[in-house]
Amino acid sequence: MKKILLITILFLTFSMAASGATEVTLNDIQRPDSAILFIVDGLGSSYYYPELTPYAIDDSEISKAVTQNLTFGARLLDIRTPIPSTGPAHSVIVTGFSGANEEIVGYTDATIYDVTRQHGFVNLAVMQKGDFQSMREKQDIIMYAQNNSIDEPLISIQANKAPAGIYELMYDWKMKLPEYLENKKNREKYSAYNKWGIDSANAVAEYMIKNNPSQRFLLTVNVGAIDSGGHNLGEDDYYRLIEELDRDIYPLITTARENNIALFFTADHGMSFAAKNAKRGGHASGKYATKLESLRIPLVIMSPNTETGTFNGEYRQGDIAPTLLSVLDLPQSLQYADGKNINVKNYATIFVKADKEYRVSLWNAGQKVSESEGMELIFAGAPLYTNYTIKAVGSDKTHEERLFLDSDKLLMFNSGKGQDYRGIVAIILILFVITGGFFIIRKIKD
Ligand SMILES: [Zn+2]
Repeated sequence: MKKILLITILFLTFSMAASGATEVTLNDIQRPDSAILFIVDGLGSSYYYPELTPYAIDDSEISKAVTQNLTFGARLLDIRTPIPSTGPAHSVIVTGFSGANEEIVGYTDATIYDVTRQHGFVNLAVMQKGDFQSMREKQDIIMYAQNNSIDEPLISIQANKAPAGIYELMYDWKMKLPEYLENKKNREKYSAYNKWGIDSANAVAEYMIKNNPSQRFLLTVNVGAIDSGGHNLGEDDYYRLIEELDRDIYPLITTARENNIALFFTADHGMSFAAKNAKRGGHASGKYATKLESLRIPLVIMSPNTETGTFNGEYRQGDIAPTLLSVLDLPQSLQYADGKNINVKNYATIFVKADKEYRVSLWNAGQKVSESEGMELIFAGAPLYTNYTIKAVGSDKTHEERLFLDSDKLLMFNSGKGQDYRGIVAIILILFVITGGFFIIRKIKD
């Protein structure tokens, strides 16, 4: 009896403390259920975008890949990393902050993973590079390479709160890696290592779709052998590795397309070579770090609610995180982000966050379009480039704002008066549970 009471109190406490956003859909929209963030380590867009030509540091034109699959969806022509180095660039991707580093990734509410988790997603990852400690800790489960060796790879799995069956599945895939690499050498072995990463990630996505269809997820993937190939094999193998990635990624693209999953294809940084046929490439230091070939990264987005085609204009790597959240209709609550949402979505979403319960109504041309109540509200599916008036009526204050929906909007309403009673109730309940716990422990000890 006591146990039931304790569980009930715990449940109430956490459900009240957790953010409970109320979602309202205004029109018939097709929002993705889940997302895959696919990061190709060291892939410069100069080496495969049809519009671009790669040059070596000595200004000679160098080889470019011909691809069929890597240009799907909405494609950003000019997007650059502020720092062409693996750890910092991954930190920028997941925080939306141009000055991010591995430490900041570990901070509360700093990353896309914090926002997805607050909205009921699980965070899954398969990463060969970019998987530093604070990145791993933001995942519910991650399979990652402990070293950068393709000859003697060391794969680990770190689980925090893994969905049922995923640990076992990842373990099976960890054991499959030797088969992929067997009897292969040089570029063929590098490609096989990438293919294993892609196939593992695809297996995780398929498992979730089949066995846990109502659970939304964000799956982060990093494949590392294009970067390794650029460094160790040289210019002549680098572009071929890209063509092989283009071939091997097809099943994952199909999984995303057929199952209402948004796919974000990008890179941490690019790669540069001193001359044609150079046997080693670089990106992070000296003469390599300032080359466009090291700075320009791909960004291709495929989602049922996004436009297709190319996007001109200059964008930054820090724009990826806010854009990913926008496509998933999640609020931009990244604590350190200086990036901006890129308007790839074909509708706008209005997010309302308040310190108290408000009755919020949306008005268009004098007509009430929608009304709902709560502290956190999400109105998804408003037509772009329209005017709306939003009215929020609270117990002691009324707010009214006019909006032009050129993109998603986040509105914060603050009554300016103390804590909301639910916060206080939650704190009292937590204290109650802790005290209750002590009593039970003492009883057991006695
Ligand atoms: Zn890298």
